[in-house]
Order: sequence, then structure tokens, then C-alpha cells
Amino acid sequence: MLKKRVKGCFDIYPGSKEAWQDPAIWKYLDDILLKVAALYGFREARTPSFEYTEVFTRTSGQESDIVNKEMYTFLDKKDRSLTLRPELTAPVIRAYIENGGMSESLTKLFYKGPCYRYDRPQKGRYRQFHQFGIEVIGKKDPMIDIEVISMLLHLFDMLGLTKTTLLINSIGSIKTRAAYAKELTSFYSKFENDLSEDSKRRLKTNPMRILDSKDSHDKKINENAPSILDFLDKESIDHFNAVKEGLDSLGIQYKIDPMLVRGLDYYNDTVFELIRSDDLSAQNTLAAGGVYSGLVKLLGGKDIPGIGFALGLERVIQYLLEENVSIAKAAPIAFYFIGMSTECKKYLLPFAASARRKGSSAELFEGTSIKAGLKKASEKRARYAIILGDDEKENGNCKIKDLETREEKSIPLSSLISHLETKNTQPFTRQT
Ligand code: ATP
Ligand code: MG
Repeated sequence: MLKKRVKGCFDIYPGSKEAWQDPAIWKYLDDILLKVAALYGFREARTPSFEYTEVFTRTSGQESDIVNKEMYTFLDKKDRSLTLRPELTAPVIRAYIENGGMSESLTKLFYKGPCYRYDRPQKGRYRQFHQFGIEVIGKKDPMIDIEVISMLLHLFDMLGLTKTTLLINSIGSIKTRAAYAKELTSFYSKFENDLSEDSKRRLKTNPMRILDSKDSHDKKINENAPSILDFLDKESIDHFNAVKEGLDSLGIQYKIDPMLVRGLDYYNDTVFELIRSDDLSAQNTLAAGGVYSGLVKLLGGKDIPGIGFALGLERVIQYLLEENVSIAKAAPIAFYFIGMSTECKKYLLPFAASARRKGSSAELFEGTSIKAGLKKASEKRARYAIILGDDEKENGNCKIKDLETREEKSIPLSSLISHLETKNTQPFTRQT
């Protein structure tokens, strides 16, 4: 029992049985995420793994899956209710307010880290999973929506994942949503008996949540539900039109999905999702986001709007693997030092240290057999093996073997450092 990890969680570990749990692919993704964040001028925010529960209950909203059933909530030793973060938008906005971000006209932040949800574990759905996301806080402007959406698509281009569909919708303002909710209530009331238990309750408390239901019967009923687009006021219509025009002018293709409402209450106006075009499962959403006008205020800040998106890294990684996107393997080792006795190893130690300080990766073989040492060196994809035996050491020599050309020569130990320097081996090479 003790050696098992918690259900719905996983290790990212070298040589893992599951290819998507290999750290090399996580690094590949991380590097691209950091690159795209820098390209668009985003700075990183890191927040604690847990928050006061209120940060989520106040923001995600009644009848959201998160608040209803997915939060890991516990009391600490002083009976304060804390929750492991199920998402990062609310914590990042909390941090933005707490760190004086509101004095800036526009704040652009990105985040990356684990989130926790008591979801039913299955492919693409875990209890600890990872998100990368961005938030632009300070201004509501269709230009910002366009930039954020185009950044998301640029990111997927950089990843080499192109079989995706961008879904967009406008869910209007809080005011227009009230009229829409009324209309939805009278629509769903006709089907009340056919709705899932969850949706029967949602009908009383938050009928828009039914549109986000994953239940197949609910989904069928949703097909004929009234469209929010018929309820938008002029401001929201103008905003949505400007977003669509901007996307058109950038040649970005999208599908308008009037049933896309997003699972959290704090969104308004533009909402969007990027889904896998080739996957019809309930786990086909790679990334999702939208505008939130009331969130900063809800968390105790000024009345400042924002927009953001978040993507699930596990789903992206699994997709990368399914698409066979070529990923450079772990960095090879430049110099592999094989000392054939404890004395020889001790002697080689400073040479390895010196190579590393000069920027070349180096490792020392832990055994004393030359055959095993060379085998290990090629497993590690080392470029050069430096071999030292007791006799050679006495004579002041060592061997250096080029593992690519298989050439081997004997050189004086006194010139080993300068010899290594001439090799000028790059420690880490990877393609992007
Ligand atoms: P879903 O509809 O799949 O439950 P969601 O609407 O709950 O997703 P968001 O809160 O929008 O998801 O989170 C953004 C992204 O995080 C999702 O699009 C998905 O890629 C990922 N994600 C959400 N929940 C999980 C989970 N339990 N395991 C793995 N990834 C997840
Ligand atoms: Mg969910």
C-alpha cells in the first residue's frame, strides 16, 4: 500500500512505462511554453498550491463542476478551510490584487503548475494535472481578445499540432445573461423529467450550467436549447463582431458554437475553446478561456476586466505523442570518464569538474570494467570516453575514444584539459 501513489496522480519519471510520463517530453513542452510567453511579453506568476477555499467558491460559481464536486478541501490545524487549487485564474488574480498589480494599466501574466480536482480518473482526466495559462488584466478590448486567441493558436503551431478546431462564442454581459437564464428555465422545464439528476438541480440554481453538461441525455436536449446569441445587447454584439473581424483579418479559422458557455461563472462576452478535431471524447478540449469582467472585483479588487486561457498539459502531451511530433531526445553527454580503479577515478574527478565548468557535460563511470564503462558511455550517447587505467596513469597517459568515429588515441595526462577544450563539445543540443 505504502508504495502506491494516490489514485488519479502520476509520476513524471525517466524511463517511465507510459511515454507521456517521460520527463524529456515535458521539457520539450515547457521550453516551447516559456518561449511563446516571452514572445508575447508575458511574465510569470507563481502562487501557492493551496488557497483559502473562498478564493474558489466565490469565483467559480454555484453549480460549477469544480465547486460542486471536484475540490480538495480540508481544514488546517487552526480550522481554516483551505483548498488545493483546482485552477489558476482565481489564485493569479488574487495575487495580482495582493501585489499591487492594479496600479499598472495592463498586466500580462503567465503561469504553469499542478492543479487538483476530484475528477473521475481516465485518459486525459487526472486528480493532479498541470495547466499552463495566461491572463491579461486591465482592459476590455476586442484587440486583446484577438491577440490572446492568436497567441494560443501560435503556440499550437509551434508545437506542431494543427488538427485543432477553435470554437468561439459570446456569452454577453451578466445583465443579458439573466434574461437568457429565464428563457433557458422555461425551455428546460419542458424536459425536466428527462434531465440528469445534476441538471434537475441546475435548473433550479443555474440553468446555464446545463449547457456544459457531459451527460448524453442532457446533451441531446441541449441541441434545441435557445441560443445566447439572440440575447446579446449592442455592446456585446459589437465586441463579438470586432473579435470575429480581427480573427478573419489574421486568417484564423473558427467555428461559432452558441452552446459554448464554459464551466465557470466568471466569464462574460468572448469565450473560446481549442479542441482536437479528430477526437470526440469528453476529454477533447485542449485549452479554454474567455473574458472575465467581474472577477477582480469579486476577489476584492477594483472593477477591472481581464481575459485568459488555460491548457491542460497532459492532454497536449498525449496528443503530441499520438501525432508523432519529433522531439529531440535527452541531451547527450560530452565526456564520459572511465577510471579503472578507485585511484584512477579520484584522479579523473577534477577533469570532469573542469569540463563541466567550461560548459561541457561530463559524467564519471561508477564501475571499474572498461567494457561495461564503454557500454554505459554509448547508452548515455556520450561523445567521448576518457579511459584511465593504473598502468597508464603511472606512465602519465590516458586514452580518449571518439565514440562517433570509434577512433582511439593515447594522450599525455598533462594535456588532457587542453585536449578536452579543443573538442569544444556542446553540452546540450536540441532542435525546436
Ligand atoms: P472538461 O470539460 O474537460 O472537464 P474543464 O472545463 O473542467 O474541462 P477548464 O477548467 O477549462 O476545464 O481547464 C482548462 C483545461 O485544463 C481543460 O481544457 C483541460 O485541457 C485541462 N483539464 C481540466 N480538468 C482536467 C483534469 N481533471 N485532468 C487533466 N486535464 C484537465
Ligand atoms: Mg471539468
